[in-house]
Amino acid sequence: MALAGRRFPRPKQTRVITVSNQKGGVGKTTTTVNLAAALAQAGLRVLVLDIDPQGNASTALGIDHHAEVPSVYDVLVDGMPIKDVVQKCPDVDNLWCAPATIDLAGAEIELVSLVARESRLQKAVAVYLEEQEAGPGRLDYILIDCPPSLGLLTVNAFVAAQEVLIPIQCEYYALEGLSQLLRNVDLIKGHLNPQLHVSTILLTMYDGRTRLSSQVADEVRAHFTTEVLKTTVPRSVRISEAPSHGQTVMTYDPASSGALSYLEAARELAEQVLDESEREQQGENTGDRS
Ligand code: ADP
Ligand code: MG
Repeated sequence: MALAGRRFPRPKQTRVITVSNQKGGVGKTTTTVNLAAALAQAGLRVLVLDIDPQGNASTALGIDHHAEVPSVYDVLVDGMPIKDVVQKCPDVDNLWCAPATIDLAGAEIELVSLVARESRLQKAVAVYLEEQEAGPGRLDYILIDCPPSLGLLTVNAFVAAQEVLIPIQCEYYALEGLSQLLRNVDLIKGHLNPQLHVSTILLTMYDGRTRLSSQVADEVRAHFTTEVLKTTVPRSVRISEAPSHGQTVMTYDPASSGALSYLEAARELAEQVLDESEREQQGENTGDRS
């Protein structure tokens, strides 16, 4: 495979991307962990922040997140530094995870009475990024895996990030609720984080055999002409099996169609930072990949 083993361009600054969609089961966690693993395998330094109390991203990355483990809960509620909760992913170099434990379910309520309740994650991230830059090296990506709601945990993610990545499942009702998500992004942009914007949309669980999948894909592309990645992620049994082995599909079955599509999506994401001339150069160096 042409892409495997290739290095992706480093962004000029750390990109903090929140993966969000208030619908459950659309592929947020799957997208977060597999893009993160693919970016790390391509030589970039990547941190996953798991802010979903379910802790599915932590599980998929093989990260211990039983109740006593220091986690994003301690960061948000007690002000613990991120560096004290981060664990290294056992299967992928350059990939770290701040795990979520079940305590985080209570954080949504505990946060309400705390000062600066919307910006606690942002402050912790800023400190961590400075420490990394001064010490082991600058992080290239932080991906935040959000719960399926628009509560204070998600608000914290929106305030900490510059970019929103929305996974959209190619099925009926896919666009329902999307306008509410976009309104929320606008609200946060207006009041708490002027940088925030939807930079990327990824179509997931695409089934090429059904008209419905291609209709939904066409509709999303018509609405979001520049944000939607060309790559779509197919429905793949290997993708859904990987988490039960504490792995991403990138290590569980790197040659599978699911892994290859996440690798391609990660390349597209990474190459968003290139300008026109750099893009051409990249194309010349690597030949035509389309
Ligand atoms: P969310 O985080 O939005 O709730 P998940 O990423 O957990 O969604 O995905 C929901 C379920 O669908 C999980 O069981 C996951 O393994 C499965 N899944 C996600 N993407 C795919 C795919 N491309 N092919 C097959 N199963 C998938
Ligand atoms: Mg999830």
